[in-house]
Amino acid sequence: MAMGIQGLCPKCGKRVLHVNIEHIVGVVEGTSKARCLSYTCIHCNTVLGVQVDHRAKIRSRSKPEAPAAG
Ligand SMILES: [Zn+2]
Repeated sequence: MAMGIQGLCPKCGKRVLHVNIEHIVGVVEGTSKARCLSYTCIHCNTVLGVQVDHRAKIRSRSKPEAPAAG
């Protein structure tokens, strides 16, 4: 029986037929840089992969509102 191309979770060894997809934020030196997606095993929640979500733009910080002087 030939080995099929089946993704196996490196942690629990189960076939990865489904993944949990979570929206996360990529942080570079403490600054939020990009929206990212993480893929986690539905069985054991091990992170299988993370990628930058190029389609989603990080919410840019607008200029500070009226100065809080006073
Ligand atoms: Zn797993």
